[in-house]
Amino acid sequence: MSPSASSARIAVLPELVRDQIAAGEVIERPASVVKELVENALDAGSTRITVELEEGGVKLVRITDDGIGMPPEDLALAFEAHATSKLTDAADLDHIATLGFRGEALASIGSVARCRILSRPRGELLGAEIVDEGGRRSAAREAGGPEGTSVEVRDLFYNTPARRRFLRTTATELGRCLDVVQRLALANPGVGFVALHDGRRLFDVEPEMDLRARVRRTFGAELSEALVEVAAADGTTRLAGFVAPPRFARRDTARQMWFLNGRPLRDRVLSRVLKEAYRGFLVEGRQPVAFLALSIDPSAVDVNVHPAKAEVRFRDERRLFGFLVNRLREAVRSTDMSTPGERLSELAFRREARESGVRSYSLPLAPRDDDAPWVRPSTPQAPAATTGGPASVREPRHEHRHVHGPSCEHTSPRPPPSDARGDDLTGPYLRVARTYIVRATPDGFEVLDQHALHERLTFERLKSEYAAGGVEVQRRLVPELVEVSPAQARLVEEHLEALARAGLELARFGERTIAVHGLPARMKRVDVEALVRDCIEGIERAGSTPGAVDVVEEVLHSAACRASVMAGDELDDDEIRALLETAREAATDQTCPHARPTRVRFTLADLERAFHRR
Ligand code: ADP
Ligand code: MG
Repeated sequence: MSPSASSARIAVLPELVRDQIAAGEVIERPASVVKELVENALDAGSTRITVELEEGGVKLVRITDDGIGMPPEDLALAFEAHATSKLTDAADLDHIATLGFRGEALASIGSVARCRILSRPRGELLGAEIVDEGGRRSAAREAGGPEGTSVEVRDLFYNTPARRRFLRTTATELGRCLDVVQRLALANPGVGFVALHDGRRLFDVEPEMDLRARVRRTFGAELSEALVEVAAADGTTRLAGFVAPPRFARRDTARQMWFLNGRPLRDRVLSRVLKEAYRGFLVEGRQPVAFLALSIDPSAVDVNVHPAKAEVRFRDERRLFGFLVNRLREAVRSTDMSTPGERLSELAFRREARESGVRSYSLPLAPRDDDAPWVRPSTPQAPAATTGGPASVREPRHEHRHVHGPSCEHTSPRPPPSDARGDDLTGPYLRVARTYIVRATPDGFEVLDQHALHERLTFERLKSEYAAGGVEVQRRLVPELVEVSPAQARLVEEHLEALARAGLELARFGERTIAVHGLPARMKRVDVEALVRDCIEGIERAGSTPGAVDVVEEVLHSAACRASVMAGDELDDDEIRALLETAREAATDQTCPHARPTRVRFTLADLERAFHRR
């Protein structure tokens, strides 16, 4: 036995060490301090919360609220571990309605920083303060201050250098803190927020601003005006918020926000819900943008599964999933899916700017719509945004849209571009590179991708045939044989039934061969081998998610693609007109089944801007 092992004894850890260990779970960086303290302020019923930061929050985080405050006797307990006013017995864990409940945030923070709380309960004449420096707590003593609470956290991790080393640059830490504030601000309409860094105001929302106005303040007018509202209920479960048109999708999920009973959360089930709702409207690898508030009876959710409470467990997950996907999908369908030429010219400007070395950068932290009348000019402008250069070309674009008052509840989603009125679909058509068709519209012109458009229309028709009971099949006298790998042959075999419902009558024919007996009647000049390979790929893709619907949809995609007019095919005027007429009737014709646009529109306004007429 080694000496160190023999001297080791089980001992109950001193309280400070316990708190520091707990802090490791909850407090990772300044942003976690901001999150815990703002949540406390929200739990205290505040309507205005101010977040002051210095050096990215490492030097100082101070949160001031106008909530109920704490009487001196409570204040004395605030830094004690497991001291909470929000939970009294285990039964309460079943219906948690507050953001906090574990009673460990303040104790944890107190053990790794120099903290001070000043609080004056509503209606009291005097307040009190208490200090906790790395676990050394003072008694509560009388102190003056406004009603509400102010919690100050200085020199985070000053006594735990190992933790401090994990902190990143000031800009990174600040960015994370702001992200927390913005998410909580989006989650809590009715509460005003102000965030300052080294005395400079970086973000603010007024209490009365609704969710759309908050999105606008945080992410700009273009996004907020394109959002489509969702409001639905299933029993006591309510869903409210906004989805963005697919073209706003991003590589990351930074603008995908779910709020559950006022709590921002990242949850795998909810991410899947959105993925499902945007299926077929998004290119692979893109994440939809949405802001959705879910209100569920607290007893139907378990929030006590994760220390930072970012994940939850739903009681009736299946039903919830179905309800959410259906309602969201409807909303996504009604977003404006057209690809405005305006956006292309904007992209072109940016590309020009990049190539000429001029960067049209904007302050990453400042709200983008700085011309809104109720925004106080608080951050200095980035120089490039005001000097001539590509950025200034972009300026006037949204001017005509700033007709709304402070909160934009009147903004309705832009109506889908009307080709119904005054557009008779007669040519002339200009064919470009045997792929694109250009035609005049009543208010400009549009460019169509003949393959993408035809593909979407074929897909919709196959889908409706499928929904109506089955896709019409053309059987073959002699089956065509396609060589595949044994694993792929097995995969096809597993899904024969789903494939047949989609109009593909296949059979396994030996170890590594598939026999094709029948195909959708709608398919004309088909490359059978390519179709089978596409389908296998589709099944492999869909394989990770359960349910035959995925497989059928993938197969219909492949069939539509292989059965459609190709880029390079010559179309005559009648064929083009027939295509456009079918498109007019179809509900979804703005993107192909793989979510590429089928048409790009240029309005007169776009042309006027492009030619600097305005
Ligand atoms: P929890 O939020 O899980 O209860 P905390 O450690 O975050 O635990 O806070 C401990 C207690 O301190 C809370 O339960 C609450 O009673 C009180 N408290 C903390 N912050 C505030 C505040 N801003 N206003 C009023 N009371 C507060
Ligand atoms: Mg708390």
